[in-house]
Amino acid sequence: MSKRVVILGGGESGTGAALLAKAKGYDVFVSDQGTLKEKYKGELLRESIDFEEGTHSFDKVLNASLIIKSPGIPEKSEVVKKAKAAGIEIIDEIEFAYRFLSGRIIAITGTNGKTTTTLLTYHLLKSAGVNVALAGNVGESLARKVAFGNYDWYVIEISSFQLDGTITFRPDIGILLNITPDHLDRYDYKMENYIHSKFRLVKNMLASNHFIFYSDDPVTGAEAKMRKIAPSLLQVSLKDTKTPAHYDGVKMNFNVAGKSFGVLQADTTLKGPHNLINTLSAVSAAVLAGISEQAIREGLKTFRNAPHRLESVAVINGVEFVNDSKATNVDSVVYGLGSYKGPLVWIAGGIDKGNDYKMIEDQVRDKVRVLICLGKDNEKLKKAFTGVVPEIYETQSVKELAQLALKVSRRGDVVLLSPACASFDLFKNYEDRGTQFREAVLELKETVVRI
Ligand code: ADP
Repeated sequence: MSKRVVILGGGESGTGAALLAKAKGYDVFVSDQGTLKEKYKGELLRESIDFEEGTHSFDKVLNASLIIKSPGIPEKSEVVKKAKAAGIEIIDEIEFAYRFLSGRIIAITGTNGKTTTTLLTYHLLKSAGVNVALAGNVGESLARKVAFGNYDWYVIEISSFQLDGTITFRPDIGILLNITPDHLDRYDYKMENYIHSKFRLVKNMLASNHFIFYSDDPVTGAEAKMRKIAPSLLQVSLKDTKTPAHYDGVKMNFNVAGKSFGVLQADTTLKGPHNLINTLSAVSAAVLAGISEQAIREGLKTFRNAPHRLESVAVINGVEFVNDSKATNVDSVVYGLGSYKGPLVWIAGGIDKGNDYKMIEDQVRDKVRVLICLGKDNEKLKKAFTGVVPEIYETQSVKELAQLALKVSRRGDVVLLSPACASFDLFKNYEDRGTQFREAVLELKETVVRI
């Protein structure tokens, strides 16, 4: 009889794991407490993979010899507790896929910057002609990539929840960008648990592997020093780069694997200080993967980041409109504001997750001329910046927002949507907020051009 694999959660990673398990001859069952997306249901039906929705039936789950758990399901959930008590091995989809993978791995984690760094690393390898797959939290699951392809390199975005479910997973190159408090509800509100989780990245790495980390980040830098880490260490730091108000003039210096060269940020498509860190990390990984300096320079010029991250939407009457809807906390707004000289028309607001606006008060005073609050309840934001920003407005309509922003701006200004807040009061999610903003700006551009 074939081994029974039960997959908890039928999203992209669960469905990918199911398809891989089926291809490898397992008896597969998918159990999802919510509803499955039509796309995934169709794939399971086509492959004759048994599944259930709306519940986890313990009799069907607890007879598994292996459970692959979606990273979204907490360890404390009843089904996981019962499976653990029954002594069933529980792993993540990344770990499962890893067991069938040949090829080399670049794995990227951190609290912020994972997606950008993963996409850039992938682009640098892909545009240099490498047979490379993009997988993990961004795009398709690793299991799906392993089920349907064969690659020389895999560039994987990996979250702390996914790292928690790894056992033998060993990247050839690991990147850790930063560790700041986040998701602490899943870690018993203990920062050390979250840190430990991030450092699982290097747990199995060998002396011949490489660990790239941002050493200026206080937590990451201190921990990397304290821990015994086997792979060779490559520190990314901004300490030797000056910090002008505008970062485009900054030169990044690389000294990796016996190669040394410099790249101006202005010769890349990524703006802002945070993207210096991301670029330094991605380029270091690319050099270690054998990509030439020339191919890297080309790749940095042709890279397009995912939307909603300092995405330049349009220029209307000399005013640039930028969508940074993914900036849902004050930390990321620091970088958003830091990416422009000013003057700025700054759009912020939404659901505040306990923001401390004092952190950005000086930066806002220096650069922001107009604040437009885009939220249901804007009192905290208005209170924090009254007297700091000369003009403050408020709206709950994106269309009105675009018109108002153009009206109050002057040639040369940047209108920056960098909300510092979650979006659920007025939008489905940050993507919806960014998309509505982009559409309203493009529509406005049409009208202005026609007039
Ligand atoms: P993640 O996938 O980790 O959420 P993203 O690349 O999607 O990261 O970036 C999310 C937001 O985090 C960006 O809009 C930016 O404001 C901020 N950010 C990006 N890179 C970094 C970094 N290296 N350090 C701090 N903040 C960053």
